Amino acid sequence: MSKLVIKNGRVVDPSANLDQIADVAIEDGLIRQVGANIDATGAETFDASGLCVAPGFIDIHVHLREPGFEHSETIESGSRAAATGGFTSICCMPNTEPVNDSATVTSYIVERARRHAVVNVYPIGAITKGSAGEELASFASMKQAGIVAISDDGRPVMNARVVRHAMEFARALDMPLIEHCEDLHLSAGGNMHEGLVSTRLGLRGIPRSSEDVMVARDILLAELTGARYHVAHISSRIAVEIVAFAKARGLAVTSEATPHHFVLADADVLPYDSNYKMKPPLRERPDIEAVTRGLINGTIDAIATDHAPHPGDEKMQEFERCPFGIIGLETALGLALEQLYHPGHVGVSHIVKLFTQNPARIVSLDHGTLRVGAPGDVTIFNPDHEWTYDVGKSPSKSRNSPFHGRKFKGGPVATIVAGQVVWRLGDS
Ligand SMILES: [Zn+2]
Repeated sequence: MSKLVIKNGRVVDPSANLDQIADVAIEDGLIRQVGANIDATGAETFDASGLCVAPGFIDIHVHLREPGFEHSETIESGSRAAATGGFTSICCMPNTEPVNDSATVTSYIVERARRHAVVNVYPIGAITKGSAGEELASFASMKQAGIVAISDDGRPVMNARVVRHAMEFARALDMPLIEHCEDLHLSAGGNMHEGLVSTRLGLRGIPRSSEDVMVARDILLAELTGARYHVAHISSRIAVEIVAFAKARGLAVTSEATPHHFVLADADVLPYDSNYKMKPPLRERPDIEAVTRGLINGTIDAIATDHAPHPGDEKMQEFERCPFGIIGLETALGLALEQLYHPGHVGVSHIVKLFTQNPARIVSLDHGTLRVGAPGDVTIFNPDHEWTYDVGKSPSKSRNSPFHGRKFKGGPVATIVAGQVVWRLGDS
């Protein structure tokens, strides 16, 4: 019998409309009690005075690179980066080698995670075999093996008929289809957002419409099929409007935004610095404002990082040659507080909701709540303490972050998974 009592924190759990000073008791891996003056006799205690105590944070968009690209990240190193960022559960995208398009690969990931990960890892299965966009993968057997959603993230499904059929199967299995929205014909050859900045830098652009077209197409197909549909890393102001349209029609459509898309613009791209190269690309100020508004008004349901590790030798090539993507697990909460909480747009509870209750709902996890009997996952954070991000100390195997050296106000203090403290400020 292991017992942990977190004492005197500001307990913020949007799933229970709770925001008050209280204790949280976790026993044998599950939430046992939330209330005042819980008896801690014989228990390990954690003094959370002056800190926020929330359900464990969930990131539904992470690339762990294992199997196949273990020099970039492993399930273990990625899970440690997640814990350092305050995340207790992460969903990993299927673009590994081999692609997670079968129960065999799913089972391998689940087993590796069980042995080596310090946080919960939930795989996302591919939509099509090899993510080649043609033949559907076997969703039912992958679901039995542990996937929580399907996506060909990074290799968007261009054939609308394939997406339609995938949605029909996903609906029957009550799983969401997650799309990386990019019309590859429109984005072909592009390295950053198409606009004044790309023209000035002489780089080929990716138009906003390459995202908008696919969001619109998929939403029409979601209406046709009745499927649960989730837009990954939304970045275009027009795409945000299209998602709002879908929600107003009552469709089962959700979306996520990454911190870099609501903090950085194309104008912030340091010329030819590959740590500013990602997909979708950093867009313009009005897009940042639209994404921020979407996070405030509920059009965008969740914050997800799209943590995409690439080792230095691959990322440090010419801008046109280097791969897309940045790491993001450790800076997500700090950036959310900076953009949404400190300017007074939302309260702490709304921030917590974007990291817990909403992502849990999107992929149907029983995490994201401090309800009695739920998994004993807790994120303890301080919305105000000042710190500076040093990517050199990251547990990730990669260093591709544009936020190295950035000063933050607020961030994680401790990460607790099934009643075990897996990371504590000062550990790394
Ligand atoms: Zn993507």
